[in-house]
Amino acid sequence: MTLTEKDSQYLWHPYTQHKTSQTPIAISRGEGALLWDENNKEYIDAIASWWVNPFGHSNKFIADAIYKQLTTLEHVLFGGFTHEPAIKVAERLMEILPDNQQKIFFSDNGSTAVEVAIKVALQYFFNKGEKRTTIIAFENAFHGDTFAAMAASGISFYTQAFQGMFIDVVRIPVPVKGQEEVSFEALKNVIQNHNCAGFIFEPLVQGAAGMVMYEAEALAKLIGICKEHNVLTIADEVMTGFGKTGKTFAMDYVAENPDMICLSKALTGGTIPMAITTFTQEVFDAFYDDDINKALFHGHTFTANPTGCAAALASIDLLQTNEMQTNIERINKSHLEFQKRIENHSKVVTTRTLGVIFAVEIKSDSEESYYGSMRTKLYNFFIEKGVVLRPVGNIVYILPPYIMTDEQLQKVYKTILEAIEMV
Ligand SMILES: *Cc1c(COP(=O)(O)O)cnc(C)c1O
Repeated sequence: MTLTEKDSQYLWHPYTQHKTSQTPIAISRGEGALLWDENNKEYIDAIASWWVNPFGHSNKFIADAIYKQLTTLEHVLFGGFTHEPAIKVAERLMEILPDNQQKIFFSDNGSTAVEVAIKVALQYFFNKGEKRTTIIAFENAFHGDTFAAMAASGISFYTQAFQGMFIDVVRIPVPVKGQEEVSFEALKNVIQNHNCAGFIFEPLVQGAAGMVMYEAEALAKLIGICKEHNVLTIADEVMTGFGKTGKTFAMDYVAENPDMICLSKALTGGTIPMAITTFTQEVFDAFYDDDINKALFHGHTFTANPTGCAAALASIDLLQTNEMQTNIERINKSHLEFQKRIENHSKVVTTRTLGVIFAVEIKSDSEESYYGSMRTKLYNFFIEKGVVLRPVGNIVYILPPYIMTDEQLQKVYKTILEAIEMV
């Protein structure tokens, strides 16, 4: 049996209807921005394997750091124990996070980072004896697949089986250009009419919605409104973190700081699952008490796994090299040139670029659903051409590893142009 045949016998894949989906491609090797399947066909990974891999596949520098840690201390429980890799990650993050972030809490993935933030927002007010149970989120947000994260997510076909079982979430429009005032007014209304504990948002770019972008000034205004009413703000930087937007964090563009930040994808350079939620001292202090019941009773078996921490430290080292910062600028420049080339194309509705993120919305006769027919046609075309891209409906986006060469990037652009002509 081939790997693909064995796969269909045993495995259940994410976001997959196995009855109608195509068989998965068995990847046997990766290097830099390239992947090879079991038949040695080559693919360019133009979405950094779901946004996790900025420094390339099989990165030697991170692999060495992991090996060294594995042969020193692979893991130790974090309840009642601590270790240098976790402390070093905290120290490094304090240097690069917005100034007001003072405490870090480890977990395993983006959803748990969000789950922790939402639980902290709710318990913060519980601990203070204030009844605040509503979370505010954007329309079409994506914050993950665990229950509170799902509740905060607005992409409804992901969550429809669970409607009625969620914590209380009220949604406001995203302040995209021209809609800023509508968004501000909606936020003020929600705060007036509900007992709001927190506002969670993907800063500047909504990834899963199709790289929907909005301005830093608008976000600063929304955070300002929350601050006036003592509503905690949660920046979900799981996608945007670690250089994707051109700055280390999307919040680096924003004049107001959030109370909490969620980090995961790219934290370990796409090697080991790990996530972090960061907090202000003020948030932490609401749990600091003689009363044990005021503690945050949340934890995961692999909390602060030392091997993951070593991978994170190596990744932050790589991110901060001149070479990587130059790569991010190079890719951004290249995207802007490509954007100019195609923005007036008759089949292009709109284009957007921020940092290494580029998205193009393609004209479609019918209302395109997330996994609709145009999406399938585009996806198959890209795979056939050896380019890994996962369109969202009629939106095609690129989020390349920062080490992608100009030649590889040009091939991705060329393939996207061909796809636009084809559909
Ligand atoms: C991917 C993502 C998550 C969920 O992360 P997982 O590791 O898949 O659980 C949460 N928030 C945002 C913004 C994401 O892009």
